Amino acid sequence: MGIEQQVGFDVERVRREFPILETKVRGTKRLVYLDNAATTQRPKRVIDTLKEFYEKYNSNVHRGAHWLSDLATKMYEDARKTVKEFLNAHSHREIVFVRGTTEGINLIATSFSRGLLKEGDEIIVTEMEHHSNIVPWQLVAQQTGAVLKVIPINDKGELILYELENLITDRTKLISIVHVSNSLGTINPVKEIISLAHQKGIPVVVDGAQAVAHISVDVQDLDCDFYVFSGHKIYGPTGIGVVYGKEEWLEKMPPYQGGGDMIKEVTFEKTTYNELPYKFEAGTPNIAGAIGLAEALKWFKQFDINEVHSHENELVQYATELLKEIDGVRIIGEADNKTAVVSFIADGVHPHDIGTGLDMEGVAIRTGHHCTQPIMCHFGIMATARASFAIYNTREEVEIFVDALKKVLKFFRR
Ligand code: PMP
Repeated sequence: MGIEQQVGFDVERVRREFPILETKVRGTKRLVYLDNAATTQRPKRVIDTLKEFYEKYNSNVHRGAHWLSDLATKMYEDARKTVKEFLNAHSHREIVFVRGTTEGINLIATSFSRGLLKEGDEIIVTEMEHHSNIVPWQLVAQQTGAVLKVIPINDKGELILYELENLITDRTKLISIVHVSNSLGTINPVKEIISLAHQKGIPVVVDGAQAVAHISVDVQDLDCDFYVFSGHKIYGPTGIGVVYGKEEWLEKMPPYQGGGDMIKEVTFEKTTYNELPYKFEAGTPNIAGAIGLAEALKWFKQFDINEVHSHENELVQYATELLKEIDGVRIIGEADNKTAVVSFIADGVHPHDIGTGLDMEGVAIRTGHHCTQPIMCHFGIMATARASFAIYNTREEVEIFVDALKKVLKFFRR
């Protein structure tokens, strides 16, 4: 099935498709789920697809000598085509299924480092990266003697872009940047960065974990060399994610993991590798996950991404406005171009206490460093409280959240 026609956006209709939104927290409080940057909820259609796969189609994929395996293979490969369409990739050969963004970046870093990185080479990341776009590069830097350089951010939580030109040298081998920051909500000008990098022949990896469910992503338009995202942050299952890589790079790079499916021929003397994308998919993949992800993408594609984006932006703006009216509350991350996330701190009350207090009112947010300790360091704080929005959130939920926050702050400041 192809990706569906777009329909008008009606938040109440959308909510009805998510059974979990009916949940009462501890049996009493209405669930107000504002932890979507950690993971989104799944519409019933995606849940049903997983159930149906296990009930009717479950079998291992590729090389199967039987009907069921052929069926499962077709569904798995169709899922790849859905992802290809979703990202507007040039070919299904550029779509590799992985466990999620973290595994995807580890795949790129590890594979790229084998042969394409050497001592003294430089990799550029930004100060606002998730740890999963820092640590894999540190690991390969340690192994190869490459050096990590960092584009700084300003106090609004935006990249200081002119610094990039100073950071790029003739030893720069790769730039890896987050599309949308999970702690600040900042939307980075990745197209501009890619264009600058390409003038110098440098490939760019984009961490799209927080982008795909909120803004339009077209890998050919961005011209990125790699794009990575997780299924569970776009209404799909956990344990499945995607690496998009331009064929020319994936061809050049050696396999990430060795095992079944990624080979053409194995002897003890020499092994040859399978064609793309299978060269990068060792072992039995997450078949149900890939099929569930495809269903989530088809579901999501019904909506006009611009409508989704403005709906979520309205929630961000409304929440920001109401939070700023509260004494001693400070927003962390005030980029001109941001989406879906509102991080904040409050004088005299630890973010963890805010999180626990809100939970007592049925409001689910996330507190901590959000796997972005360098950002916390930049702002001189240990943690923030973060409300993050999805397609199904409402203005009423923003009000419940802010009223609950006022109660919590009053309690802890008494
Ligand atoms: N990058 C960003 C920007 C993220 O927000 C996250 C998840 N919080 C990740 C990477 C890692 O994603 P996953 O845990 O699904 O691998």
